[in-house]
Amino acid sequence: MKHIYLCLAHMSESGLEQQYIKEAFDTNWVVPLGPNVTSFEKDLERFVGMDKRVAVLSSGTAAIHLALLHLNLKPEDEVLVQSFTFCASSNPVTYVGATPVFVDSEELTWNMDPDLLEEAIKDRIAKTGRTPKAIIPVTLYGMPYQIDRIMDIAERYGITIIEDTAEAMGSRFGGQMLGTFGQYGVLSFNGNKMITTSGGGALICPDDKDKQRTIWFATQARENYPYYQHEAIGYNYRMSNICAGIGRGQMTIIDEHIAHHRHVQALYEQILEGVEGINVHRQPADPRYESNFWLSTILLSPTLRIKGQNDTNTTLCEPNANVDALRVLLDQAGIESRPLWKPMHCQPIYQDCPAYVNGVSERLFSQGLCLPTGPCVTDEDVAYIVKNIKEAIVR
Ligand SMILES: *Cc1c(COP(=O)(O)O)cnc(C)c1O
Repeated sequence: MKHIYLCLAHMSESGLEQQYIKEAFDTNWVVPLGPNVTSFEKDLERFVGMDKRVAVLSSGTAAIHLALLHLNLKPEDEVLVQSFTFCASSNPVTYVGATPVFVDSEELTWNMDPDLLEEAIKDRIAKTGRTPKAIIPVTLYGMPYQIDRIMDIAERYGITIIEDTAEAMGSRFGGQMLGTFGQYGVLSFNGNKMITTSGGGALICPDDKDKQRTIWFATQARENYPYYQHEAIGYNYRMSNICAGIGRGQMTIIDEHIAHHRHVQALYEQILEGVEGINVHRQPADPRYESNFWLSTILLSPTLRIKGQNDTNTTLCEPNANVDALRVLLDQAGIESRPLWKPMHCQPIYQDCPAYVNGVSERLFSQGLCLPTGPCVTDEDVAYIVKNIKEAIVR
């Protein structure tokens, strides 16, 4: 049986990735610096534009950690984080000893609700006497958040924005690349993201000084002495010249990947149109929004019945019975799907953190499913997936 995965790594036809790796071996640059690292950073700087500087790192999580280090947070500091996200958005806040404060989503983009954000800021100031130090909005599944409104709030309260655009490489808002709106932007090149370096990430920095400081933090904070001298705690977070070689090859097909994700999304929208009880999540009609559609997602109406559905009444934060039944049926047909990300304010590890919630992310989590979208998903695959979804519905 053929297996169709959510989002698989996909190398260029020309095999450039292997050529750059071979060059690294041939010239003995098998270290966390070298020509591939420098060139990959140049490629990324050209790609994101806005005269930003990019430092490549061992992961997107490391990039968020280093962005927070730049802010000199103290243990009593708070960082506002979108609750509807992957744990890597908020975990680094705990690495620096600060507290994440979670903010729920709005219905349009599924990302941070600007009204709730402002409410949270006012309430934190009232309760703690301190303004939160940073805001981490997320571009979940590639969808831009309400950038203009969030930026306006951040500016009014003087709070730094770190954009977690790990899922949104190539998404735009008003023509401008996501990850270039805030002080810092984050990219991920994990195996399942828009491009891969097997594992890796990058921090988009405002200028070269910041980039050099990021690299300094990422290479154990070595001072400029002939011997090892350390005046700050550093990290071993730099990307290797081998991984950067893969990244250089992948940059030659990033545009194709984005076009393919958008094409697959358009197919889902088209052939699931009119299937009662199933709603494909679309980007807002406002033409400024341009999602890369890293993953296509659907919502199942709670009244929709799926074959084999095991109804149990529960008040837990978990996917509805019809969502779970559809996931199992698709899995039996060789199709990988996955519930939407479980909100951080519902995670046991974060149960004691302040959270400003409105029910949106919990509802989306209970009703949603991610569908295969990557560059390996063909038109025939989409037709097969939709056929299986339709056949799973009890009419
Ligand atoms: C993947 C991801 C990250 C982290 O990236 P890694 O490279 O896997 O460390 C951060 N935030 C979000 C929203 C992600 O999806």
